[in-house]
Amino acid sequence: MKKFFFVTLFLLLISSTSFCMSAASYAVDDNFREELYKVVEGVRNYFGIDAEFFYDEDNPRVNATSSSTGEIHLFGGLVEKAYSVPNSPWTYIILVIAHEWAHQQQFLYGYRPMYNIQKELQADCEGAYFLFTIYKVTQEEITNLINNQMSNPIRSLPWWDVKAHGTRQQRIAAVKRGYDLASHAISINRMYTPSEIFNFCEYIMVTP
Ligand SMILES: [Zn+2]
Repeated sequence: MKKFFFVTLFLLLISSTSFCMSAASYAVDDNFREELYKVVEGVRNYFGIDAEFFYDEDNPRVNATSSSTGEIHLFGGLVEKAYSVPNSPWTYIILVIAHEWAHQQQFLYGYRPMYNIQKELQADCEGAYFLFTIYKVTQEEITNLINNQMSNPIRSLPWWDVKAHGTRQQRIAAVKRGYDLASHAISINRMYTPSEIFNFCEYIMVTP
C-alpha cells in the first residue's frame, strides 16, 4: 500500500501594497479562481516542476499540503484566513503556494518528506525569493507580517508550531536570505535557476 506523506505547509501572512488586487471581501468566484490558477501557473513555471494543484475550496482546513506523490492541496480555510488579514491576501496565498512547490523540489532532489525545520526554512526562503523577484514584495512587508502573525499564533495549527516550522526569528532569517538572493539577482539582472536558489536557501541557521 502506498504511503502518503505530507509536509504540512507553514505559513506566513503578508501585507503587501505591491500586488494589484485589493483586500476586498472574500468570495470564491470565477474571478478568484482565475487569478489563483494564474498564480499557480506562474509558480509551476518558475520551479519547472509539474506538480498537480488542487484547490479544495470547501475544505475548512486552514492549511496547505505538499505530498511526495506530486500533489499540492490548498484548502479553503486557509484562503479565508488570508482574506482576514490586512492588505493583500494574495501575497499570503502566493507565498504559501511557492512554499509548497519548494517542497516538491525537495522531494525531487531526494529529501524524505517529513517534518524538518531546516526544510521548512528552505521553503520559506525560496518562497520569499519568488515574492521579491516576481511580485516586488519588500523584506519589511514580509517581516512585519511574520511578526504580526507569530505574535498572534493560532497554536492549534501545525504551521504555527515552532517545533515544526521554526521560530519567528528563524523564519525572518529565512525570508531575509531569500530577499538577499533576490536583491543580488536584481542587481546583476538575471534570475537564478531553481537549483541555484535551492542551494542558496538550503542551509539556514537553526538556532533558538
Ligand atoms: Zn512547509
